[in-house]
This record gives sequence, C-alpha cells and structure tokens, in this order.
Amino acid sequence: MKPDGAAFPCARQRVSSRGPMPPLADTFGRPLRNLRLSVTDRCNLRCSYCMPEADYVWLPKPNVLTFEEIVRTVDAFVALGVDKLRLTGGEPLLRTDLPVLVRMLAERSALQELAMTTNGVLLAEHAAALRAAGLQRVTVSLDTLDGATFRMLARRDDLARVLAGLQAARAAGFTDIKLDTVVIAGVNDGELPALLDFARGIGAEVRFIEYMDVGGATNWSPQHVVSRTQMLERLRQSHGPIHEVPRTDSAPAERFELRDGTRFGIIASVTRPFCATCDRSRLTADGMWFTCLYATHGTDLRQLLRAGADDAALRARLTEVWHGRADRGAEVRAALPDRHALAEAASLRQNPHLEMHTRGG
Ligand code: SAM
Repeated sequence: MKPDGAAFPCARQRVSSRGPMPPLADTFGRPLRNLRLSVTDRCNLRCSYCMPEADYVWLPKPNVLTFEEIVRTVDAFVALGVDKLRLTGGEPLLRTDLPVLVRMLAERSALQELAMTTNGVLLAEHAAALRAAGLQRVTVSLDTLDGATFRMLARRDDLARVLAGLQAARAAGFTDIKLDTVVIAGVNDGELPALLDFARGIGAEVRFIEYMDVGGATNWSPQHVVSRTQMLERLRQSHGPIHEVPRTDSAPAERFELRDGTRFGIIASVTRPFCATCDRSRLTADGMWFTCLYATHGTDLRQLLRAGADDAALRARLTEVWHGRADRGAEVRAALPDRHALAEAASLRQNPHLEMHTRGG
C-alpha cells in the first residue's frame, strides 16, 4: 500500500478560493473519488448471490433521503474530490422519478462520470428519459442468457425484459454499455464464452465478477467461487490467446483483450483484492455512508442533515471520516484461514445495512 497520493495520478486536483488543494486522502493515501449512491434498497429480483432469503427487513420509507437531501450530500462529496457517481440499489429503477434526480445530478459540472448499475428489468421503460436527463453510462447485470438459469438464479422470469432493456439502452444512445456477470461454479460458469460473444455482438463489454462473500450472500462458500485464473483458462480454451490491457485507472476490473480486439474485464475481488487502490465509498438510500463494502459500521449522514448541519459541517464530517479510513476489507477476508459467508440471515435482519442490496453493489 502506498503511503501517499502519488499512486493515484488520476486523482482530480481540488480547487478552493485560495487555490489548488491536495486530494483528500485516507490513512493509506487513497483519494475520495468514487461514490456509489443507492437510491432504494428494494429490488425486483431475488438473485441467489445477493438476496437468497424468503423475506427482508426494508429501510423505513421516512428515512429514505429526498432528492434534495441526496443532491446536498453529493455536493459535499464533490467539493471534497468525488468526480465519479454511480446510481445503484437495490434496483435503482424502482425509485420513483429517477430521471428527475439524474437531471439534478447532471447539473453538477464537476462530476466527470454519472452512471447507473441496473438489473435491466425496467430499463426499456426508462432508458430514453434517463439519457435525456443526462445519464452518461449504464451497466446492466446479466448473469445468464438461458431463461431457465435466469429463473433459477433470480427467482423471476425476466430475462426477456432485461434483453429488451439492453436494446432500449442502445436505441436511447447509451454507447459505453457494460454487462456485469457474477460467476458461480456449477450455475453459469459454462456460459462465459457465450456471454462474451453476446457482449461483443451488442457492442458492450462484459465484466466477469468473482462471487463475493458480501453481506447478503448467505449461500456463499469458497467452492462456489470461480477464480480469475479459472475464468481466463476457460476463455483461452474457447477464444484463444488473451492479453492483459495495461491499467490506466483505479477501477476494480482488470481488462483483457482477445486476438480480434474484443475486450472484457474480470473483477477478482476474492482472489486478488484491490483494496490498495480502492477510492470508492457507498451511501445507502437512508444516508448511511460506508467506506468499505465489508465495513460493519457506517456514518449516519441523514441524522446530520436532518439535525440542520450546514454544508461546512457536512464536509467536515466527511473529511474527518475519510482521513481516518483504514479499511481493507477484501484483503482481510482473503487472509482468513476458514472463509465463509460474512453474516447469517438473522444478523442481516437485525442490521439490514449489512446487506449488499442496501449498501449498493
Ligand atoms: N439491482 C442492480 C443490479 O442488479 O445491477 C444494482 C444493485 S446490485 C446489488 C449491483 C451489483 O452487485 C450486481 O451487478 C452484482 O454484480 C453485485 N453483487 C451482488 N451480490 C454479489 C456477490 N455476492 N458477489 C459479487 N457481486 C455481487
């Protein structure tokens, strides 16, 4: 881990009325740059790697931040160096009037990237409005191209709607579409070549994600993980030589290229944690701020906002927390001798903030 900000050439220079300021850095020199904003904890799928339980404890509706509260909070983050914002959930398209929020956020000129991760089920209905409102990029979760596997994995019969959503996104003008595939041994690992071909066919880039032991993944076990090495081996067998694309940023995906120029990514959070360059944090729909996907405690920004804190106080709190950040959750998990699911269903019901679908993937 590098102890200074020099490891992050992409970190944007912050500017105050008194001139340039160094990027806000945590205890390992990692900048505050990338915010994932969960706009709802509700989801219309029940993916086995994320929401395998029969029922859930939801965030109380009155606690969910209003658009005005979200934008005020985002402004504080942006003032401290955040320039990439991703809307997520839960399923973000379940949030009423999402294009209105997108338009408000798109007015923040310091944001270099405004993106969304969605399961795509409702994308056909909303793609055009989101694009018109200023959303720049979409990532669609797509774990399988097989209807029966989809039904089994997501416990809903919605593959056709996801595929229609992808088509609608392209028709609406989204060009840089990514597909996210969580790879699970014995479930969809046989589909890697087909998913790669499908992505190529629609001009998208697929990222294969190692199945993570995050909160909510109560069925997780090491046997279900397909490692980066195994994925590359399978894809070499089907598609020939694969070259690694040199990294240019701190994004979690390592990128690879086939002989014909087709690119894909692998997010190897389990076998190759990338804590050393992690510049992301997560804000839940009710305003709890987590500085690591595996963190057990967050910072309650809703309480601060609703207690009347002014912008300076909000920024001061964010600065204090980020300065003290020492999380390296995925590395800590990787070092465990006996690794199993992070939390049991009972503790997740007691503390829904531990859930991936609450925290925002
Ligand atoms: N509903 C949206 C969707 O499906 O994309 C956004 C929220 S979902 C929690 C975001 C991402 O979390 C999914 O694309 C999936 O990649 C990731 N995710 C959830 N559980 C995971 C797990 N156990 N391992 C790896 N990735 C996971």
